[in-house]
Amino acid sequence: QSFEELGLDARLLRALLKKGIEKPTPIQRVAIPLILEGKDVVARAKTGSGKTFAYLLPLLQKLFTANADRKKLAPNAFVLVPSRELCQQVYKEVLSLIELCRVQLKVVQLNGNMLVNDLRAALAGPPDVLISTPACIAKCLSSDVLKAASINQSLETLVLDEADLLLSYGYESDIKAFTPHVPRSCQCLLMSATSSADVDKLKKLILHNPFILTL
Ligand code: AMP
Repeated sequence: QSFEELGLDARLLRALLKKGIEKPTPIQRVAIPLILEGKDVVARAKTGSGKTFAYLLPLLQKLFTANADRKKLAPNAFVLVPSRELCQQVYKEVLSLIELCRVQLKVVQLNGNMLVNDLRAALAGPPDVLISTPACIAKCLSSDVLKAASINQSLETLVLDEADLLLSYGYESDIKAFTPHVPRSCQCLLMSATSSADVDKLKKLILHNPFILTL
């Protein structure tokens, strides 16, 4: 199966071609069509499986085709990651795809060194995609840089990348600080290398009847 057969937009197909990425990996083959359909997905996917593109490609496609009149009080998509390194890595991947697709999307990454004023400046004119650890999002909420009601009105996609690590690194309370504000309509995607009791807990907290992919 080709990326085209998975239903990806011509701009993304062109970007992949320019990156020399020709064939989808197994996780991409299964996850991309489901995510494009708007389903919640839990995928057991290790680093190296192509998990990042498995969620980024449909996430970007959703943003390309989003209604321009939609509410934009807070970011439309959160990608939550357990470390600054992964944050940087995902940020670079998104920027590179956006550039190759020649679309205008605002992408912001937050890091633990940012003071409240930095966070406020980064989120002024809300980004389309926010990449962050859960701790920075919790800090934005507690300092009122992000308002719970705005998240509730604007969030359309939530990705938890390396979800097993999100919990083992101690982000549970930060995650619980914003999950009550995630709207029922938000599509939630959870990527995890393992399926543990912890991941199950996250799944129950955030997802609604997800498709479970173990490859
Ligand atoms: P990840 O599993 O997301 O950490 O990706 C690992 C690496 O695989 C990254 O450097 C990607 O650029 C690369 N990659 C992702 N999808 C594909 C694909 N379909 N074909 C070849 N390389 C890929």
